[in-house]
Amino acid sequence: AETQHSASASTRRLIVLSGPTAVGKGTVEKKLLADHPQIWISVSATTRAPRPGEVDGVNYHFMTEDEFVAKEAAGEFLETAVVHGMAHYGTPLKPVQEHLAKNIPTILEIDLQGARRVRQRAAELGLDVLTVFIAPPTFDDLAKRLASRGTETEEQRVRRLETAKVELAAESEFDVVIVNDTVERAAEKLWQVIKKEFEIDR
Ligand code: 5GP
Repeated sequence: AETQHSASASTRRLIVLSGPTAVGKGTVEKKLLADHPQIWISVSATTRAPRPGEVDGVNYHFMTEDEFVAKEAAGEFLETAVVHGMAHYGTPLKPVQEHLAKNIPTILEIDLQGARRVRQRAAELGLDVLTVFIAPPTFDDLAKRLASRGTETEEQRVRRLETAKVELAAESEFDVVIVNDTVERAAEKLWQVIKKEFEIDR
C-alpha cells in the first residue's frame, strides 16, 4: 500500500464532493468505492432517523440532537449544516485528518453549505481542499430526477426546483466539474481526478 500511495506532501488534497440536491452524487460515490476500495469516504454524523437498511457507523453515525450539539461545541466537526431545514449533519474532523496523514484518498460527500464551510476553514486547519461539483447533464434532467422520486406534492416539487436553480449556479465556485451523464462515466472521471491528486499508478 505504501508504494501505491506515494504522493508528496504537496498533493493529497481532501476531496470534497458536492452538487445540487438529487443530482446522484451518492450513487457516483458508491460506484467509485466499489471500483476502487482503497479510497476512504468520510462517515458523517446526523440527527435524522436511519432509513431501512442503513447501519450506524457505516452509512452515518446516527445520534440525538443533544449528542450532536455536544460534539459540535467540543469542536469535533470539520463542518456542520442543517439540511432541508430539518436534520443536523456534520463531518467528524479527526478521522479526516488521520486518513489524510496516511495518504489515503479521503472523500467528503456533503451538501453545498458544507462545501463552503470546508473551504472557509481549510486554511485554519491546515487542510488542502479540492472541490468537485457533480452536475446534471441539463436542468431538465435534474427536474426529472426530482419528479421521479414521486414522494412530494406539486408545491414541494416547485420549491425544490427553485432551490435546484440556485444550487446549479454554485458550480463556478468549484475546482472541478463532473457531469453525471452516466454513473459509470462520472465515477471514472472522478477516479481520474483522485488518481492524479494522490499519484496512484494503477
Ligand atoms: P441524506 O439524508 O439523504 O442521506 O442526505 C441529505 C443531504 O445531506 C445530502 O445532500 C448529503 O450530501 C448531505 N450530507 C450528508 N452528510 C453531510 C455532512 O456531513 N455535512 C453536510 N454539510 N452535508 C451532508
